[in-house]
Parts: sequence; structure tokens; C-alpha cells
Amino acid sequence: MARIFFTSRPFGDMKTPKARNSLQSALCLQSLAFMEQTHSDVIEVIQGAGSEPSADALVTTTRGMGIAVLVADCIPLLLFSEKAVAAVHVGRKGVLNKIAVKTVEKMRSLEAGKISAVIGPSICRNCYEVSPEMYEQITQVVPASATTKKLHALDLKAALSDQLAYLSVKVKDLQLCTLCSVNQSGKSDYFSYRGGDKSARMAGVISL
Ligand SMILES: [Zn+2]
Repeated sequence: MARIFFTSRPFGDMKTPKARNSLQSALCLQSLAFMEQTHSDVIEVIQGAGSEPSADALVTTTRGMGIAVLVADCIPLLLFSEKAVAAVHVGRKGVLNKIAVKTVEKMRSLEAGKISAVIGPSICRNCYEVSPEMYEQITQVVPASATTKKLHALDLKAALSDQLAYLSVKVKDLQLCTLCSVNQSGKSDYFSYRGGDKSARMAGVISL
């Protein structure tokens, strides 16, 4: 059974070693691997932590090892089966380059078996407004990302869910928005790039 965890603002900036170390010990993980994310479609299969590969998806079949994706509005997608897990960074470019689809295919090549997915805290369809030009460009290629032309906002979670449904992957969307999920004090519980958190990142972590 895979273990899944998403950090929020109180866990701190997951780009810092201090926050990473606390997270690793809190989750009792033997190791915890991160990646250098560049909105690519590069997938790395890793069986031990140490280096921080340049990739936007990590896959492992090693038990007790955590793999993490960093986000602040982009989608932290965690994929799991009995034999393999993956942490995937999906932004606008990731929906276009189909990194999630390619990661599922990679897991299947490792004989992962039945794969399920969780979509963590990320910007919602009401908050992700783009220019009319970009809206046209993206929705033409990925119709499932369309919302209403009046707002020119993209629904990346719907687009991603659509890609995964096509592969018969069962998807659970936590339906938490990094920008508009505000707490009682009026602050977002999550880091949001659009909300002003230009550098800090949260983590989505998964392990077997
Ligand atoms: Zn929102």
C-alpha cells in the first residue's frame, strides 16, 4: 500500500534542507528524493536518493523510499500501484507534453499493475486565467482544459484527469486550490505563485 502526503504552508519551504529533513523524519522514510523540475517530459526511474536529477517525474519500485514533487500552483500528481509509485510535476507545459501519460506508460513497462492517481493542491479552474491568445492556443490542443471564454481560465486538473481516464487510471482529485482555499484568517493554506509566493514550494510525497 502506497503512502501519500501533501505538505501545506505550515510545513515550510520544501526547497530548504531543514524542511526536507523534518518531512523525511516525520514520515519515517529511509530516504527522500527530489528533482530539478524544468517543465520537461523527462522521467527518471530511481532506486535510491542522493542526486537530484533534472526531471519532472520520478518513479521508484523501492519500498521505504519517498519521492517528491515541488509545487506552488502547478499540479502535484502522485501515481501508485502495488509495485511502483511516481511523483509528477504537471503544469501547462506538462499537460501539453503529456508527462503524466508517459509516466503511466513507464510504470506499466515496469509491470506496475493497476495504477491509481491523486491530484493534490493546485490552482483551480476559477483562478488560472491566461491571455486570450494562450487560452485559444491551449484549448485547441487540449479541449478538456476549456472553461469559459469570458474568463479565459484554464482547467488543468480536468485536462489531466481526462488524459488519465483515457489510460483507465482511476483519479482522485482532492479539489484543493492553492490560490482561493483561504482559511479563517483570510490566508491561503498553500503556497501559490500567483498569490505572491514566488520562491517557496510545497511537496507532494509518495512511497511504497
Ligand atoms: Zn482557485
